[in-house]
Amino acid sequence: MTPLADAQAFVWGHCAPLPVISTSPTNAAGYVLAADVIAPEPVPPFANSALDGYAVVAADLATASAGSPVELPVVAEVAAGTATDHVLQRGEAIRIMTGAPVPAGADAVVMVEDTERLDGGARVSIRAAVDAGAAVRPAGSDIGAGDVVVTAGTVVTPAVVGVLASANAQAVQVHRRARVAVLATGDELVTDGGPLGPGQIRETNLSMLVAALADAGCNVDDFGVVPDDEAQLEAVLRQAAAECDAIVTSGGVSMGDYDVVKAVLGRIADMHWMQIAIKPAKPFAFGLLAAGEGPATPIFGLPGNPVSALVSFEMLARPALRQMMGHERIGRTRVVAVADAGITRRTDGKLHLDRVIAEWGTDGRCHVRSARAQGSHQLAATATANAIAEVPDGSGVAPGGDVVVHLLS
Ligand code: AMP
Ligand code: MG
Repeated sequence: MTPLADAQAFVWGHCAPLPVISTSPTNAAGYVLAADVIAPEPVPPFANSALDGYAVVAADLATASAGSPVELPVVAEVAAGTATDHVLQRGEAIRIMTGAPVPAGADAVVMVEDTERLDGGARVSIRAAVDAGAAVRPAGSDIGAGDVVVTAGTVVTPAVVGVLASANAQAVQVHRRARVAVLATGDELVTDGGPLGPGQIRETNLSMLVAALADAGCNVDDFGVVPDDEAQLEAVLRQAAAECDAIVTSGGVSMGDYDVVKAVLGRIADMHWMQIAIKPAKPFAFGLLAAGEGPATPIFGLPGNPVSALVSFEMLARPALRQMMGHERIGRTRVVAVADAGITRRTDGKLHLDRVIAEWGTDGRCHVRSARAQGSHQLAATATANAIAEVPDGSGVAPGGDVVVHLLS
């Protein structure tokens, strides 16, 4: 059996980042930047007021207090989106609104709450002193002209979209999303909602993987259930390899299987059939299928048992696809959690990947409990889980013991 880390290193070593495209900041949400973004201009572009009040020379208010306010003439007014060319002199105040440019000559803004309008606004009484620079947001205090605003490798979050817009980035370079073909194999699978014949089951993995791929940020191409027919399967795989960046298959990769999947992939692709030292999801296949000019297309052959398919996707395929889309942190967030009731298992040479329910405790730590049924066909129990626990080979985790978990949400 191959240790999980070795299988991951091998698979991920064959999944290089996809080509870079140029797109607008708003379209870039969810993508990963492929190049640093440099600000052509400062943000804010000019010194502006952090609040509504009066622009002043701080030194004029040195003695101002509630008991002895300072009165100043109000010589102009400036709102956001306007400017005044009046240069503020000592002994003057200018009414100013949040975001408006601080007039030349002023070095502070006193908040309106510390003032009183006099003479219909012609004068103001100020009852608090301010420090020079108070409530003035200097030009470039968010971003300086020429600064690297966002570095390559950054995931474009809503805040990053906003920063890019503020810095007047018209187009950014991002790694393309992966277009991923997904297909299921298995003559027992029914997709049409009709009655089940002898030995037939509802197709499950295709629907699940379409959702999992979309959740991972991929564009999904659903090739459906491919009949157990070598010629048809070969045609579908070749089309998928030609049109897509990666292929995910479900079923037919188990050890004992004589399956058309094995026969066809073994013949047309450079395949690595693995037995990974994990439970569930021991059987796994990875390969490369050449298609025309471009790089060969990675194929992730997931096992057919639904829980195995999901765990295999989480541990091997999803990180690989994220790497292709330029992500630097390709795995899920991991934390050390407390296994309140412990987790029992037997020694079998495998890392157990138990599905667990994780919650934050009042002690500030993450606590987990088993999602009960851990069989590789028991998807309903897995669907109640929000984390996968790494239970190392041995006799399990004692009650209250530590366990590493991958947070799925
Ligand atoms: P396999 O990996 O093809 O040997 O399948 C292992 C088990 O998973 C068998 O019980 C299959 O019937 C089941 N299985 C395979 N593919 C699917 C699927 N797409 N949806 C639900 N169950 C499946
Ligand atoms: Mg099968």
